[in-house]
Amino acid sequence: MAAAFGAASAAFLPRLAHRLAVGFAEPPRPHCADCLRPFSAGFPGWVRVGAACPCSGGYAFPVLTGAVVAAVLAVTVGPAPELPVYLLVAGPGVLLAMIDRRCLRLPDPLVGALAITAAAPLAILWPSRIGLAAGAAVAVLTAYAILAFFGGLGLGDVKLAAVLALILGFAGWPAVVIGVLMPHVINGPVALFLLVTGRASRRRPIAFGPALLAGALVGLALQQP
Ligand SMILES: [Zn+2]
Repeated sequence: MAAAFGAASAAFLPRLAHRLAVGFAEPPRPHCADCLRPFSAGFPGWVRVGAACPCSGGYAFPVLTGAVVAAVLAVTVGPAPELPVYLLVAGPGVLLAMIDRRCLRLPDPLVGALAITAAAPLAILWPSRIGLAAGAAVAVLTAYAILAFFGGLGLGDVKLAAVLALILGFAGWPAVVIGVLMPHVINGPVALFLLVTGRASRRRPIAFGPALLAGALVGLALQQP
């Protein structure tokens, strides 16, 4: 059921990612970037199941990703009260990864929405763990701000890492530690593959957001008993 929910919600993401993957301070894309067909005004322009535009073909990858993420969460977390919270934020998580891959940006409103959607219900569920979660967020924010200062990371990565640490903090320190270390383990081979295949270079940096999000998923999955 979780996998079906993950797949179904991810089917709405290609259009959102296509419209939101724009440069800093630019408005959402008003028309398809490939065929220039205008998107409908208002809400209907945001809602499309499947590919971002009739002109673009595949959407199997986001749907599969949504299904796998939800299935991993359901299997590892089990029928616990926090599972619906995790499943709910998996969608925005996959969306952020899609946008970062396209334009190397992690829009603040989306990262903020991710933080509130996850942290508010988790704080109600586990009020005693708010301090731990906030501590983890501040610690990771500081560490990543120092990393960003020395280059290689964007401010969007710093903010997302702090939000993910906040969410992982509710699950405990082991989840935070795994979630912080795993993105670097994941991104090493990915960066090597992209460099070798010529899909990344010094001038075309690699998005770190997807690795951060995948690392957080591993952290949540591994810390469960
Ligand atoms: Zn198009």
